[in-house]
Amino acid sequence: MIGAVDIGGTKIAVGAVRGDGSIATRLECPTAPEQGFRAAMQRVTGMLREAASRNDGRLEGIGVACPGPLDPFTGIIGDVGTLPGWQGGNLEKELERAFGVRVAVENDADSAALAEATWGAAKGASRFIYITVSTGIGGGIILDGELYRGVDGAHPELGHQVLDASGPLCYCNAHGCWESLASGPAMTAWVREQNPSSDSLTAAQICERARAGDALALRAVERESYYLGLGLANLVTLFTPSVIALGGGVMRSADLILDGAKDVIRRICTQVPAEKTELRLASLGADTGLIGAARAYLHRYH
Ligand SMILES: [Zn+2]
Repeated sequence: MIGAVDIGGTKIAVGAVRGDGSIATRLECPTAPEQGFRAAMQRVTGMLREAASRNDGRLEGIGVACPGPLDPFTGIIGDVGTLPGWQGGNLEKELERAFGVRVAVENDADSAALAEATWGAAKGASRFIYITVSTGIGGGIILDGELYRGVDGAHPELGHQVLDASGPLCYCNAHGCWESLASGPAMTAWVREQNPSSDSLTAAQICERARAGDALALRAVERESYYLGLGLANLVTLFTPSVIALGGGVMRSADLILDGAKDVIRRICTQVPAEKTELRLASLGADTGLIGAARAYLHRYH
């Protein structure tokens, strides 16, 4: 049994996950980042003990999925936008000390990519890119079963590739990066801009209205398809992967968005065999983070 910790901006999920990726126990608490790293670690430790005691009391090791930037080899958290004040906190050391087992800390998008490659939509794919489209856009790259890492273990930020230099300013300091144009909040902001007097709609509400035939919502969905497709087209041209799997909240409306994105890829990826890149939906669902944390541990130590 592997201990798994999935740290998000609003909640932390903790669980015991079997060696085949199935979840035996799942617990959850608020992240409450303002209470600090130490307090959160106390909650996590308590929940891991509870998860262990429900499963014969023993965890072989612990995997942690956390938003970046972070150092996957030391387990030290960087300046994470959704975890203010946690910079310098050491996930690996804290949990190793508490449980006396090996701990693997991994970027959450990379963990999800590893899990989808082993147990999910990209099983058996030799060249695979995982993309999640929700509050932000993130991704991980798997080549021949190995996670692609940048220099010193850095995680490449696929969501911050620039698609339109005259686009909206992102916190990454670029104008018109993928996340600023095609994330859920990007859809919300664009609709608001077109109709300032309207209520703020979530991406899911915009898609719901598009289904009902609302003209502005339909344009928002068309724009989403275009920019999602443009970012994917860059990945196809740069990497020619065999599979790209798409997850995240916005992809719950994939039936509205994906065909338009595929059109963009067909139209502009003319210099590579783009028809050989299969676009699939991620298949591990709402607990991808937890399953990914366990996978990150197994990937590193087995
Ligand atoms: Zn950005």
